[in-house]
Amino acid sequence: MSLTSRFSLDTQLFASLRFDRARVVDLLVGWWHSAQVRRQRRALLVSRVQLMAVVFAVLVPLWIVPDVIAFPAAQWLPLAGMRLASSVVFLLLAYSHARVHSGWEVSLRLGVLLTVPTVFHVLACSVLLDVPRSGFAGVLLQIYALLPFVVVAGLAVFPLTGLETLLYALPIFAAFRQAALITGEFSLPANIGTLWLLLLVTGVAMVSGMSQLQYMIALVRQASADALTGALNRHAGVETLELLFRVSASHNTPLALMFVDLDHFKQINDGWGHEAGDAVLRGMAAALRGSLRRGDVLVRWGGEEFLVILNHTDVSGARLVVNRLRHAGLGQRPDGSALTASIGVAERLADSAQDWPELVDLADQRMYAAKEAGRDRAVLPQHTAVPC
Ligand code: GH3
Ligand code: MG
Ligand code: MG
Repeated sequence: MSLTSRFSLDTQLFASLRFDRARVVDLLVGWWHSAQVRRQRRALLVSRVQLMAVVFAVLVPLWIVPDVIAFPAAQWLPLAGMRLASSVVFLLLAYSHARVHSGWEVSLRLGVLLTVPTVFHVLACSVLLDVPRSGFAGVLLQIYALLPFVVVAGLAVFPLTGLETLLYALPIFAAFRQAALITGEFSLPANIGTLWLLLLVTGVAMVSGMSQLQYMIALVRQASADALTGALNRHAGVETLELLFRVSASHNTPLALMFVDLDHFKQINDGWGHEAGDAVLRGMAAALRGSLRRGDVLVRWGGEEFLVILNHTDVSGARLVVNRLRHAGLGQRPDGSALTASIGVAERLADSAQDWPELVDLADQRMYAAKEAGRDRAVLPQHTAVPC
């Protein structure tokens, strides 16, 4: 890789790491994450859960040795049973199938990973109730008391949103309170101090999770974006389309596609040069984005062809978008005249499309019909032409 391209890659990465309001929201809640970010995050979460499960499956039974040394059989025996049972759950988590389809499945795995030590802590508190707090047993009891901190701190390993870290930490807080009640150590001053420390650890875990998430989102964005226009590249576009088509078919919701091809674009390259053509493409993508909603997806399908995925949008909704584009315009050609495009629209329900390639084909055919009908217009399902 040359120094220049390396430099531009670094500055692009830096730019994508900059904060803006939408990006901060993406770090706090995951509702608007793109299909690519969701997929990458699921894979990363599952692999981290597996890694942590392996570590716990080994370490938790090893602690039987200090338990045997410190506590009488009445205590270490039930503790050993609980440790072995925990280890079995961790092993199941570690060796369960790595390929995960739904976000819920990932949350469940992470939930199980955190629940096992939390439940263990509460039960261990009842088992160790009458153990004298002196000598080696006293030291071990102090280490046991640190378990809630260890579990909350462990959240820092995962690329979680701020809200997720909080939601996972709250049950651990509740368990900690429960354990404090069992041991009778609910004297207010001591617990406010401990609670404060627990909150602090949660805050640090939250910042760590969000930083990992931010870095992951930046890398995914860089890999999915077309370098010239900032739209999704074709590979990421296909991935998004596959996912949205699947969801739309299973929920029976509408999904519209707009195939946008610039009119007489070659003339711009021939008359004013490739650089001028590039500038027009950049401006056109920015203008298109300006007319779309946050959930709509702009894809650079090829050269001067763009695909707009309009999720939850039927034909009349797509017609509104076409009209909005007509009012906003697509920018100017280098000679100052308006840049125009031919647009083909297809919609999953109206066209009874069986898969996404069929939907793209239909939109493409209608874009060609718009070209043949004189360009600068859109052709919608039922072949109604809308001049742009
Ligand atoms: P029509 O109205 O029939 O679509 O005419 P057109 O000239 O737009 O048709 P055509 O699809 O043949 O031309 C597309 C041109 O887009 C050809 C290619 O050189 C140019 N092109 C493709 N990618 C880029 C790019 O990244 N930058 C620039 N400047 N030009 C590009
Ligand atoms: Mg073309
Ligand atoms: Mg064209």
